Amino acid sequence: MAARPAPYLDELNPAQREAVETLDGPVLMLAGAGTGKTKALTARVVHLLNTGRARPNEILSVTFTNKAAREMKNRISGMLGQTVEGMPWLGTFHSICVKLLRRHAELITDDADSVVEGAGPHLKSNFTILDTDDQLRLLKQLVQAEGIDDKRWPARQLANIIDGWKNRALTPDKIPASDAGAYNHRGPQLYAAYQRRLLELNAVDFGDLLLHVVTIFQTHPDILEKYQRWFRYILVDEYQDTNVAQYLWLRLLASGHKNICCVGDDDQSIYGWRGAEVGNILRFEKDFPGAHVVRLEQNYRSTPHILAAAGGVIRGNQGRLGKELWTEAQQGEKVRLIGHWDGEEEARWIGEEIESMQGGTRGMRPYSLDDMAILVRASHQMRAFEDRFLTIGLPYRVIGGPRFYERMEIRDAMAYFRLVVSPTDDLAFERIVNTPKRGLGDKAQQTIQRIARENGVSLLDGAALAVEQGAIKGKGAKALGELVVGLARWGRMTGDKDVSHMELAEIILDESGYTTMWQNDKTPEAPGRLENLKELVKALESFENLQGFLEHVSLVMDNESDAEGAKVSIMTLHAAKGLEFPVVFLPGWEDGLFPSQRSMDESGVKGLEEERRLAYVGITRAEEVCTISFAGNRRVFGQWQSQMPSRFVDELPEEHVEVLTPPGLYGGGYGAAGGMGGMGGMGGMSSGLESRAAEANVYNSPGWKRLQSRQGERPISQPRESRSQVIDLDAVSAHTVGERVFHQKFGYGTILGIEGDKLEIEFEKAGTKKVVARFIHAADD
Ligand code: ATP
Ligand code: MG
Repeated sequence: MAARPAPYLDELNPAQREAVETLDGPVLMLAGAGTGKTKALTARVVHLLNTGRARPNEILSVTFTNKAAREMKNRISGMLGQTVEGMPWLGTFHSICVKLLRRHAELITDDADSVVEGAGPHLKSNFTILDTDDQLRLLKQLVQAEGIDDKRWPARQLANIIDGWKNRALTPDKIPASDAGAYNHRGPQLYAAYQRRLLELNAVDFGDLLLHVVTIFQTHPDILEKYQRWFRYILVDEYQDTNVAQYLWLRLLASGHKNICCVGDDDQSIYGWRGAEVGNILRFEKDFPGAHVVRLEQNYRSTPHILAAAGGVIRGNQGRLGKELWTEAQQGEKVRLIGHWDGEEEARWIGEEIESMQGGTRGMRPYSLDDMAILVRASHQMRAFEDRFLTIGLPYRVIGGPRFYERMEIRDAMAYFRLVVSPTDDLAFERIVNTPKRGLGDKAQQTIQRIARENGVSLLDGAALAVEQGAIKGKGAKALGELVVGLARWGRMTGDKDVSHMELAEIILDESGYTTMWQNDKTPEAPGRLENLKELVKALESFENLQGFLEHVSLVMDNESDAEGAKVSIMTLHAAKGLEFPVVFLPGWEDGLFPSQRSMDESGVKGLEEERRLAYVGITRAEEVCTISFAGNRRVFGQWQSQMPSRFVDELPEEHVEVLTPPGLYGGGYGAAGGMGGMGGMGGMSSGLESRAAEANVYNSPGWKRLQSRQGERPISQPRESRSQVIDLDAVSAHTVGERVFHQKFGYGTILGIEGDKLEIEFEKAGTKKVVARFIHAADD
């Protein structure tokens, strides 16, 4: 009698089993979301171990995030029925490369081809890994040492270029002639200098981890061969998001025994902006002739409505492999679509909806908070939700970053506000006295402390005395004087009726130099921090004054706990890759936000298609309930602007969508306004608009154009054209220093600096010019 298959095989469908049991030779599993690729990959590891084909340390298994690696380890233990010890080569590309590089660091020299062991400078195995801040500081030093004006040629631009080369596995000696002009023709030479400097410092940056290992493999066939033999089996998840360096690394390692199994989905490639090449997956069969290709079509994650909605959206992309998915799941809920008056309303509604879904609502089963996730396009969108949830005491976790009010820049800004409202807040004073840098080091701060103590006054008063008495010397004295005077002035302004507390907040952040500090900061995080500061000012709106806001935050922060227990998850769409939740909320589906303004401004479709894949990733995270929403109005730079629903909303197939009515409409209560096809039912509202919410809803409903053409009426809210000014401002934030852009009149160029809506651009033909952002576009690749 045949033995019963092991339980982990029993759980798989025939196609998955084929992928798991075809152990020899290359295997490609190319399949849509939720078809069990990761599950099959995990089962394959178990199968390799179970059949004795490989020991745990002979399997190389690459995941996209550390979280995914941990999950895979857990699942493997679960399937094996025992904890797996010693799977050292299960991890991300980076974590695996760190291990490899520590073993062979000494082979990395100035000139990798001529290594003589023990001769010349080389990397040592205790090398440090630089973060982006260190990397930039180092590049800046090099740029300045070369006498290059780093205002015109920001170091950050050079960093981006070098990262790009590293993603393409290009060492300084391999830069192609077509790239010779990079960074004003100094790029290649500075890249070489940077690599030499790193070596002297016994340091590597992130991109080096892969690049160096690839270099070692390419220059030391003996070492490569050793690992080719050692890693008997190679497995890769999310293959569609590998870049050239990762691809080369894999190909080198697999070219011996060719036991490589890659899984991926071309429709979920969302890291093109970071150098990933979806072409890698499409080329697999060419690279590994005779590859066994397995296609999975049964989806085990989502309901038919959710799948069909996702399928409808992704169909808008060209050049896909095209995959049909089916499921045995019950029809379930249609994808729910709802328009709101503004972003705050959207957050409020989602908060209430989450609360009622815990008890079971509208005929749905009850859900735990752990079952629910909110997936946003840009991290600054999180603030509205965090604020709302803190207010109503709804536990949440932010995946992939700190919570809003815990972010450094938010704490700094709030310390300024606290000090303005209560000048005796010594903790706040300590936090900001030298932020931004005012030349007030430890010694100066100790002097202030002493004077305050001796006089029995607050630190701020102590500082005032210190300035008066001349107790602090040098440039710090002047800066401290300005801070003291500034705080007094802002304090008086809290009583000024003509200045709103939002305006005051902006004045404080500007005049204190805090905003400028981040504007001058060239780290990749700086633009996000500036966005967050804008969000903070926006958050003030629902309060009467600064004090009320501060009380609110201290109360909610006090309430907030790291307590165990169920929590709603909030994360970006990028961070949600590979995950699944029974209930998913997708807010902010508005043109300019999602798809991003930048992708819309590009003349080609590349950016837009990547956004569409992101939409596909978002919808397919949902198992049972998927709710898409948009707001009719958002505050952009302190001004209310009408928003248009995302073009992706229009791409949702009507028959799989249910339009929800916001509360307060039609006499309140929730209820379906019918499918989108039934949107005409809203026509009845055009005559008797009762509330602003009603207005927004009609204008923003995806069927408003259809309505309009039927009724021959103008839309009720601001016409789209009047937004042009704001779109420009949007565009500003969408650009970055170092970015290559195109201008109608001056041609191609690179952004040197950003000032409000003006960009300083070094044009390739026309020289350096200041132009208005609205006239430029991201350059087509
Ligand atoms: P993504 O493309 O989003 O990464 P995926 O293809 O990796 O998705 P998995 O995460 O492996 O899909 O699986 C999706 C869900 O389906 C999981 O909950 C998994 O446990 C379940 N599943 C996968 N295969 C089967 C099967 N044969 N029988 C039952 N459930 C399955
Ligand atoms: Mg997966």
